[in-house]
Amino acid sequence: MSQKIWVGTNWKMTKTIKEGLAYTEELNRISETLSSNIELFIIPSHTALIPIRELTSKSRVHIGAQNMHWKDEGAFTGEISPNMLAEIGIDIIELGHSERRQYYNENDVDINKKLHAGLRHGFTPLVCIGENMEQKNNNISKETLAAQLKVCLKDLTKEQASKVMVAYEPVWAIGENGIPAEATYVAKVHAFLRKQLVELFEDTGTDIPLLYGGSVNLDNFIEYIDIEDINGLFIGRAAWNMESFEQILQHLDEHLFA
Ligand code: PEP
Repeated sequence: MSQKIWVGTNWKMTKTIKEGLAYTEELNRISETLSSNIELFIIPSHTALIPIRELTSKSRVHIGAQNMHWKDEGAFTGEISPNMLAEIGIDIIELGHSERRQYYNENDVDINKKLHAGLRHGFTPLVCIGENMEQKNNNISKETLAAQLKVCLKDLTKEQASKVMVAYEPVWAIGENGIPAEATYVAKVHAFLRKQLVELFEDTGTDIPLLYGGSVNLDNFIEYIDIEDINGLFIGRAAWNMESFEQILQHLDEHLFA
């Protein structure tokens, strides 16, 4: 396999600046030992972005922000704007994580506005989609995911679409109470998502990186990365500890690119 893969982690609200810098120093070191086919990224808290940008300025680790407003400025207390993130020089903007949707009522229409703002500023949007347990039990996973894709990626040109990444993260598989998804289920969903992307963006839909996330760990990451339509892994808990993340990265490298 020579096609590149994306592997990264969203730190959520877990690391102080000091902890984040120690982690990033380690990741910079490890990144030197990995095949250039692995694109690495970390998504720190907003407060850590500036020092972490400095620390990664000469490394191959991409950095992203966990959220932003779609407007460049204005009276939006507590928000951060694309202008502000551009000033820091982020590479990726994560949009629509299920926790943003669940706790802060983020919806596909807002995510679409943020996506367009992110593209205007030259960021790579990483759009998260996923069905919840109720939707899965009601057999409407495909309808839910198709609608999320359609609305989140609305009004994109084919060229713009080629600058976007999508992460499929079943809500029921994420976090402490998550149930790791069967690889056969994930394979079916990813094949469906790829088909949807190709229908939406005729020429570039095949190239959009489709990442998988949800309780990915040392025991299951090989099963997921071997799935045909998976182009990367978006990892939470198992990547926050550098010992476990390093093992995942090294095994991935050996498995795919040795
Ligand atoms: C996530 O929250 O996006 C995630 C993938 O977390 P975890 O790997 O811990 O389930």
